[in-house]
Amino acid sequence: MDLAANLKGVRKRIEAACERAGRSPETVELMAVTKTVPVETVCAAGELGLRLFGENRVQEAALKISSCPGNLRWHMIGHLQTNKCREAVRLFSMIQGVDSLRLANEIQHHAQTLSKTIPILIEVNVAVESSKFGYKPESLLNELEAINALPRLEIHGLMAIPPWTPEPENTRPYFRRLRELKSTCEQVLGAPLPVLSMGMSGDFEVAIEEGSTLIRIGTALFGPRAARSKPAKTDSDSIE
Ligand SMILES: *Cc1c(COP(=O)(O)O)cnc(C)c1O
Repeated sequence: MDLAANLKGVRKRIEAACERAGRSPETVELMAVTKTVPVETVCAAGELGLRLFGENRVQEAALKISSCPGNLRWHMIGHLQTNKCREAVRLFSMIQGVDSLRLANEIQHHAQTLSKTIPILIEVNVAVESSKFGYKPESLLNELEAINALPRLEIHGLMAIPPWTPEPENTRPYFRRLRELKSTCEQVLGAPLPVLSMGMSGDFEVAIEEGSTLIRIGTALFGPRAARSKPAKTDSDSIE
């Protein structure tokens, strides 16, 4: 695995997608998704200039965050269990994947006790798949204002994990749907939501063409992930 070469390749592809979409590459932030990736490799990614990292398990993230330089930013991606909220609020600079009012309330509670304000993204189940976490679009519109009313939470935008398909083009309608839903949320809230977190290794170019501002890339940077030693479904969204 040649991380420097992979990173260069990904950046080239980001630039090309931005060019096609008439966007500046600075409008797309690259997150390195480091679940299962050893801490030395994470540090190497930091040395290559990557600054934003995503983890989907609190325990694993805690270990890496304490072992890596302090200039890296960490986001919790994927499903968060309520019993991991305190630790998540303590560790992460953003929680991507708020998918219920119950979870939002729990985050609010711990942010309050830790005297922190925590940026969040709301996760949307864009294809309404039974296997996935995230708000159904209509349910989100019902609860958006209640989440927005929580003083310790700052809604920065939306994130989604559309259905996997071998043909990235098939994902375009879901990305478009998420972008449109973000506009609707902005109208409801009367405020801009700057972040649209969508696009992974298999489909990030299409996501950029559809307006993504944050792509979450694991495999294209670090190669295929080793299998977990035990099944997920603990505190993750289970994209292994
Ligand atoms: C694992 C994961 C990714 C990265 O997936 P790749 O296909 O390896 O790029 C992105 N987002 C979430 C929420 C994930 O769990």
